[in-house]
Amino acid sequence: RTVYLNGEFVAEQDAKVSVFDRGFLFADAVYEVSAVLNGRLLDNAAHLARLARSCQALDLRLPCAPEEIEILQNRLIAENNLREGAVYLQISRGNSGDRDFDFPGETVSPTFLMFTQARPLIHHPKSQTGIRMVSVDDIRWQRRDIKTVGLLAPCLAKEYAHKHDADDALLVENGLITEASSSNAWIVDAGGTLITRPLSTHILHGITRQALLELAKQNDLRFEERPFTLEEAQSAREIFISSATTFIWPVVSLNGKAIGDGKPGDITAKLREIYVRMAVEVTGG
Ligand code: PMP
Repeated sequence: RTVYLNGEFVAEQDAKVSVFDRGFLFADAVYEVSAVLNGRLLDNAAHLARLARSCQALDLRLPCAPEEIEILQNRLIAENNLREGAVYLQISRGNSGDRDFDFPGETVSPTFLMFTQARPLIHHPKSQTGIRMVSVDDIRWQRRDIKTVGLLAPCLAKEYAHKHDADDALLVENGLITEASSSNAWIVDAGGTLITRPLSTHILHGITRQALLELAKQNDLRFEERPFTLEEAQSAREIFISSATTFIWPVVSLNGKAIGDGKPGDITAKLREIYVRMAVEVTGG
């Protein structure tokens, strides 16, 4: 693979980052993951706008203008002949030459890296079979709206899920589901209304979540942005998760108990179909 590092496109084995990089030592870095379909970035302007917000919240400099970042992303996609998958990008506060909690001065420039990951988006098997989930305590920090690389809590949540014969975890705080370990969480109630938690510092402001709310509006699907409990999820008609690289995946069980009839739900399937149609259309497939 060709990767991008600080202004250069190089073979992955030639990309070197210092052991004193603050991303490595302090997780002092932000990231974004944009989906690529038909060789084109999906909803990338929204991802780059969120990147700018994450940077601003941490007083991190954007290495270049969003339009320039997009040019670099597209060049990387072309270099790797990526048709379907994602572009990962990360910006850390850079290499301050020592381990020191204090922010380095303006003289230290950010470390900016990107790589591509090939992965089926439209025909991913999990989108058909659905996934099994377990619930775990949400032990993450208090600013989940900032997309930082401090991802140990979601790694632990996924590991816990795998050890308990599940694919992924729903995170619970004060009896309420915040989101999933790396995606937003939704339920469908008995009347067919889509429910997802409102935006706040408790969750990541998912780009796919926002696109789905917009599509729900356009397609006259009822939805509500409100917190929901683990019990509500357990007895919901359907559950699904959303993210840039899954689009929508149905959830067929939670803590070992079937959701609905234990098969991917109809409304989830319909919303996924609407999203996929939009995604194919805007990427010109
Ligand atoms: N919540 C969390 C915790 C995530 O890691 C992600 C994936 N980046 C999402 C939600 C979904 O966000 P998006 O739709 O922008 O990929």
